[in-house]
Amino acid sequence: MIDVIVAGAGPTGLMLACELRLHGVNVLVLEKETEPAVYVRALGLHVRSIEVMDQRGLLDRFLDQGKKYPLGSFFAGIDKPSPERLDTAHGYVLGIPQPTTDRLLAERAAELGAEVRRGVELVGLSQDDRGVSVELADGRQLRSRYLVGCDGGRSTVRRLLGVGFPGEPATVETLLGEMAATMPADEVAAVVAEVRQTQKRFGLGPMGDGVYRVVVPAEGVAEDRTTPPTLDEFRQQLRAVAGTDFGVHSPRWLSRFGDATRQAERYQVGRVLLAGDAAHIHPPTGGQGLNLGVQDAFNLGWKLAAEVNGWAPDGLLDSYHTERHPVAADVLNNTRAQMTLMSTEPGPQAVRRLMSELMDFEQVNRHLIEKITAIGIRYDFGGGHELLGRRLRDVELKRGRLYGLMHAGRGLLLDQTGRLSVDGWADLVDHVADVSEELDVPAVLLRPDGHVAWVGDDQQELLGALPRWFGAPIG
Ligand SMILES: Cc1cc2nc3c(=O)[nH]c(=O)nc-3n(C[C@H](O)[C@H](O)[C@H](O)COP(=O)(O)OP(=O)(O)OC[C@H]3O[C@@H](n4cnc5c(N)ncnc54)[C@H](O)[C@@H]3O)c2cc1C
Repeated sequence: MIDVIVAGAGPTGLMLACELRLHGVNVLVLEKETEPAVYVRALGLHVRSIEVMDQRGLLDRFLDQGKKYPLGSFFAGIDKPSPERLDTAHGYVLGIPQPTTDRLLAERAAELGAEVRRGVELVGLSQDDRGVSVELADGRQLRSRYLVGCDGGRSTVRRLLGVGFPGEPATVETLLGEMAATMPADEVAAVVAEVRQTQKRFGLGPMGDGVYRVVVPAEGVAEDRTTPPTLDEFRQQLRAVAGTDFGVHSPRWLSRFGDATRQAERYQVGRVLLAGDAAHIHPPTGGQGLNLGVQDAFNLGWKLAAEVNGWAPDGLLDSYHTERHPVAADVLNNTRAQMTLMSTEPGPQAVRRLMSELMDFEQVNRHLIEKITAIGIRYDFGGGHELLGRRLRDVELKRGRLYGLMHAGRGLLLDQTGRLSVDGWADLVDHVADVSEELDVPAVLLRPDGHVAWVGDDQQELLGALPRWFGAPIG
């Protein structure tokens, strides 16, 4: 039997497949589309996702294909500099189009031995105590021990599970596409600058060779979002918003997106789980959706692998929902707030001006950037040291970098005392006796996702903490 079927080969499903394969889990990814998407939704990776790639030894591939940008102006497009001294070794946004991210993750998943079957649509599921039966559009059936729905905002898995998806429907819609324009580039830039003073959901971003990424408010909300808009619709809306259609022509692709905000009530029903857009949708303000999905997968992968491999302590898999549901709820909240701040109505404009003043306070600016980049996340592991529940930034050790030691996705005890031991868990947890000038605690126990599970110098306390995340000792 297959261990885990993942429905959907978007960034969430592919990242999850990579994480599961690190632990030897037999994984099959089903993707209904025969070819990868060409249209570009996400434009980049935020700090926490960059760190995640670094922790798995993938960052160089992403850096090769991307471009670094400063972190300022990300909250509702309010023009502010990046806060200084962010708690990370990667204080930038990595601009990289989503199809490239998807391709790099697909290549990695294949290298690690995950099978991705394209042109295969999941249409039915049922589960019992021992596994999940999956029905495919061509009538075939597959059986696995677990199923994870990473099948996007209109998730079939979520619908079949009957999991509620409460929230708000779309109230505004935006047209998005790539196309050429006949207007000279300097004139385009001048009109865009003028219009953007009031309309923040508008832009023509040059992509080279006279091609632009065009974003413009739609006239209403389409009944059927799956039907792409026409070039004439773009022309009409550009004229309505900017007074010119810029002479747009020769579209590469055209699409639309809305501001619906919804979250699955449960991320797990028995042996079936939800992750990424299947679990939460929200407006793309601040560029967080792909990042959130990749980080869901990073949280879930090792826990599900622990279940499959038989060493998961009680409650480990449940902690996926407990930890990740509040994180997405917070993203829904901040994206909704950003949409309000981007409205052209006088009331929200007044709040935007006030917000802009507040962001001149370093701490406010920092707080918002830590939210958007996801480095401010602290899972609730109970009271204790301030690092507990947070991810640890990369730090320089005497013998290399911390993240360089985490590529295999195992737990890690960073022991600056040299006196501690992980005997009994050595199959799951690496013991690194080394020191760092950047870390002022004696020792930290890191989960495979890099979150701090324990801080201290007492072996008895450590022995109390290890079973919660790594199960009973062996031997
Ligand atoms: C305009 C726009 C701009 C955005 N910009 C950003 C950004 O800058 N930064 C950011 O982080 N995020 C951004 N996002 C969000 C980001 O694109 C999504 O959050 C991300 O793609 C979610 O990844 P996913 O893998 O969960 O879902 P998806 O990428 O939607 O992948 C789901 C996959 O499942 C497949 N599938 C669906 N149903 C089935 C089925 N029944 N059987 C098999 N396969 C199935 C689909 O074909 C698809 O390939 C943006 C979104 C939009 C619309």
